Parts: sequence; C-alpha cells; structure tokens
Amino acid sequence: MIELFNPTEIEQMRPAGRFVADVLTALRAKADVGVNLLDLDALVADMIAERGATSCYVDYHPSFGAMPFGKVLCTSVNDAVLHGLPFDYVLADGDLLSVDFACSVDGWVADSATSVVVGTPRPEDLELIRTTEVALEAGIAAAVVGNRMGDISAAIGETARAAGLSINLQFGGHGVGRTMHGDPHVANDGRAGRGLPLKAGLVIAIEPWFMHSTDEIFTDPDGWTLRSADGSRGAHSEHTIAITEDGPVVFTARA
Ligand code: MG
Repeated sequence: MIELFNPTEIEQMRPAGRFVADVLTALRAKADVGVNLLDLDALVADMIAERGATSCYVDYHPSFGAMPFGKVLCTSVNDAVLHGLPFDYVLADGDLLSVDFACSVDGWVADSATSVVVGTPRPEDLELIRTTEVALEAGIAAAVVGNRMGDISAAIGETARAAGLSINLQFGGHGVGRTMHGDPHVANDGRAGRGLPLKAGLVIAIEPWFMHSTDEIFTDPDGWTLRSADGSRGAHSEHTIAITEDGPVVFTARA
C-alpha cells in the first residue's frame, strides 16, 4: 500500500532526517585509516541512545537475511556494496567505505547512505562515488508532482549509463514513513513518463548504488553483506525525501 502523508506529518518527519544526517556527518568525520568498523557501529549506537532514537537495523530480519542484523549501521568496504555487516576490520589506506543508516525518531523513520574513501583515494573510486551522488541529485530533481516514478528511475539510470556503468535492479529505493521499507519500489533504472504518478505527500528513499565493472552481486558467508561478483568496488548514495507541492524536501540533507 502506498501511503501519502499530509503537511503536518511531513513536518513531523524532519527531526528523524536531521538526526540521520548528523549521524552520517559524524561517520564521515570519524572514518579514517586505522578505525575499526565496530568502532563506527559503536559511535552510532551511542548517538542513538543519546537521542532516544530507535534503530531500524538491530532486529531487522527480512527473508533475505540469514539472522537478525544485530548492528545499528551498515558498513560496506571495497567490493562490499550494500548491507555490509560491521565486523572486526580496521580501515586501510585507500579503502572505499559505504555507510547506510536508518532509524526512527518520535515514530518517524529516515534512511540515508554515503560513501567515502579513507586515506589516499584512487581517482576512479572518487569518480564512482561522484556518479552515485550525481544520480541521486538527478533522481531528486525528477521527484516532482506531475512526474512519474519512471522519471526518477530514468534520471538515475541515464546518469549511470553516461558514466559507462551497468545497473543492478535487485535492490533500489523504497517508501519510508513509520517503517523503514514500504511501497513503492524506486528502481535505479526505468522509462521516463511511465509508472506511478508522483503525488504530494509521497515519502521515498532514493538510493543509487553502482559498481565499477559488474551489475552482479553475491551474498557474503556472513549472510548479509552483498559483494560485487567480480571484486570491483561499489559506492552508494541515499536520501529520504518528501514530494511536495513546493518541490522535493530532502530530509537527510547534510549541512
Ligand atoms: Mg538505507
């Protein structure tokens, strides 16, 4: 079921978005060579407790997960691209780290992801990250009343193709509200002018994620982490937005 939220509810969602943005800002500052992924998860757990927020991840156990997630943050390093389960790993020079975080504040969820390189970056990794960011911006720009879902998807897909990347359609964006995942699905490629008409009050996470040289993934033995089939690196950018009569509102925009 697709839920539309009224302007009062959309105002109520803003604190969750601000908190998730603050967490990602803190993670971007903390992530560095020599930092353990478990320390990043602990930092977020502390911030959640201090804020009185509720993790969407710790008890998350969908059909594709081997067991409840058990952590509050997704950390995907290098060839890991989505759903990375934090483990005892110390970030090394040049690692490409994607963090994905969702939580509930006062009953409303926000969901956002960002990628960074720690230490000395490879230029191609910065380019990959930038492509996910440009695709996200293009998707958000298309998220206006009168457009259709296919306009968002096509904007993302065209950005990837222009960069010479292929697109995996197994995972994409989703409706957000009182829970982390709802309808509609927001595919990372599609046909402009097709699909669900975009209406004011629709709240969605848009989340392009691309890999250097493949569109295929496999699940790590940890039961969660999704890795590129060919070992190439991945990047991921995500915001939670509301479609309004005044244009898209990006709840998780970072200062
Ligand atoms: Mg997310």
